[in-house]
Amino acid sequence: MKKMLAAVFHKDEKSGGEINLEEVDVPQIKKGDHVLIEVKASSICGTDLKILKGGHPATDNTILGHEFVGVVKEIGENIIDLKIGDKIVVDPNEKCGYCINCRRGLSNLCEYMALGTTFGIFQNGGFAKYCVLPRNALFKLPDSIDMIAASLIEPLSCAVHCHNIADVKESDNVVIIGAGPMGLIIESIIRKHPIKKLISIEIDQWRGQKALELGADHWINPKTQDVKKEIQNITNGEGADVIIDAVGIADTFEMATKIWAPGARLICFGQDYNAEAKIKPNDIVRYQRKIMGSYIGYPEDFLDAIELIANKVIEVDKLITAKIPLDEIITTGFNIMKEKKCVKIITLP
Ligand SMILES: [Zn+2]
Ligand SMILES: [Zn+2]
Repeated sequence: MKKMLAAVFHKDEKSGGEINLEEVDVPQIKKGDHVLIEVKASSICGTDLKILKGGHPATDNTILGHEFVGVVKEIGENIIDLKIGDKIVVDPNEKCGYCINCRRGLSNLCEYMALGTTFGIFQNGGFAKYCVLPRNALFKLPDSIDMIAASLIEPLSCAVHCHNIADVKESDNVVIIGAGPMGLIIESIIRKHPIKKLISIEIDQWRGQKALELGADHWINPKTQDVKKEIQNITNGEGADVIIDAVGIADTFEMATKIWAPGARLICFGQDYNAEAKIKPNDIVRYQRKIMGSYIGYPEDFLDAIELIANKVIEVDKLITAKIPLDEIITTGFNIMKEKKCVKIITLP
């Protein structure tokens, strides 16, 4: 059996777990709809860090990496629309297609996903040289696309979804709470559209500066500044029309409900499984505000994200902090991530 290097997750009930570099068997096609992919680039996600800290579930002994692209190496007998050498991006969230949510067009809420099916979290993913995936987890990419840039398509598809849910208009003052990788990727999309003011709220100096570099008009640091007062000043007393909470803890949710304008939309994007926040229902009723969730994305958001990368609309160079060989994923990759002085780190097998 041929072997390959892979970053494998080992669960520990107390600490969460650890990731090890191991020689494992190269996977083989077992079903007609399977495709063997040679991974070309695989991005580290904040979720990978959460898994290691025990803040996100994952299957023991699984190859992590859910944001990845590759080329087709081998195809199962039922594959008619892919050929060897085609470039693909992986949609890691496997959907069933038959549950009530899938049939209502809400495939991002597929009931089958709740069982834990995501490639790179619950099934083997992209921190390896090869991966076998079903055809319906793959989107074909244009031949001309840059594969390192393309490794941002998966997180970008979630940002596209969030932007669509927010329904941002020219006359909106937009606030993004949290300038971590996802907050910054969402910012990159919003910046491409005409709006009034784009404001980033972030406690970390490096990330706040990055938000400005990516085009935020203002950065507010809640550690040193009065957020409500600053928003009032910047928006001439109007408040925030669209707020994207890319953090998702009680503090950020409650902060949003102190700066929202009448008629505002609050989009909950960041996830914390245990957060519980206070809210006055009448603040929603009296000023006709909306609170909405944005969870991963629809297949069409993936298609849009592919176009945004292929047409170089998104400035990926500002979003990619480092490109490292897979064998440095622990020593370099996860360490840079822990220091928070980064947007995306791309591993190359
Ligand atoms: Zn991710
Ligand atoms: Zn389903």
